[in-house]
Amino acid sequence: MEYDKILAQIQQEFSDTQPSGKVASYIPELAKVPASKFGMHLYDLNGENYQFGDSAERFSIQSISKVFTLSLAMKVMGDDLWNRVGVEPSGDPFNSLSQLENDSGIPRNPYINAGALVVADVLVSSFTNPKAALLTFLHELTGDTSIDFDYTVAASEQSEGYRNYAMVNYLKSFGNIENNVEDVLDFYFHQCAIAMSCRELAQAFIIFANQGTTLDSDREFLTGRQVKRINALMQTCGFYDEAGEFSFEVGLPGKSGVGGGIVAVNPYHYAVAVWSPPLNHKGNSALGMAALERLTTLTGYSIF
Ligand code: GLN
Repeated sequence: MEYDKILAQIQQEFSDTQPSGKVASYIPELAKVPASKFGMHLYDLNGENYQFGDSAERFSIQSISKVFTLSLAMKVMGDDLWNRVGVEPSGDPFNSLSQLENDSGIPRNPYINAGALVVADVLVSSFTNPKAALLTFLHELTGDTSIDFDYTVAASEQSEGYRNYAMVNYLKSFGNIENNVEDVLDFYFHQCAIAMSCRELAQAFIIFANQGTTLDSDREFLTGRQVKRINALMQTCGFYDEAGEFSFEVGLPGKSGVGGGIVAVNPYHYAVAVWSPPLNHKGNSALGMAALERLTTLTGYSIF
């Protein structure tokens, strides 16, 4: 597959496009990121890299981090995790509180905020230093030990993340949070504030295209069964109330974040990351989705 030509064509097609949508501003620090940033990086199972634009610049990965924390929680907790969080799409926005009342504090899935907060609680219970455990996981996946939290972004969300405060307190009232709410939120705001580039994200996500094993170090981080489940959840829940639209347009499992990043995997073929900060009204990168739609159309294959 001529990914070099296809990525060049995508860059060319969108070169004059003013991305629609708005850069996230409810986390004040994110509003400072220029709307014009645009980059893409594809890493295939032959170990080849293809990229364009701002693909090497780090940005706030936000909810993309939920895939990494879910991976760790599945490793430490096994199938017991599914007693505390469901596996169904919510059809609601990522920060919605409404279903928790009827569902007695069991979030619909691990990729909405409520579910990710339960997963964060599992990690706070399981590791003496959960932040260090998460960074070590990313360092091992990418071979790059400079990946770190952006502490300014974490502090920015910590000062204004009222909905997440409400959510974790509400979950605790149902008995689905074991730890002190401040500790869970501190971990959650930091996981969202990890800064990574498209290149680093594509490298880290290659395990989801390669049955749980890295390419460089040939190390098995997850079993094939765990990867099947993580990818299935990305497919059905990775874009919240726009998961159907992403499947329809792109046809790959993927995960977005309000920093404007999207990572998608084509199992047995590649992992790809794209970054464009302006978000559509569902909180997903507008240009990022359009670029990935072109990728699966021009290559002629998605998972469908
Ligand atoms: N930190 C963000 C929040 O909790 C993450 C949301 C997202 O990227 N969709 O609101």
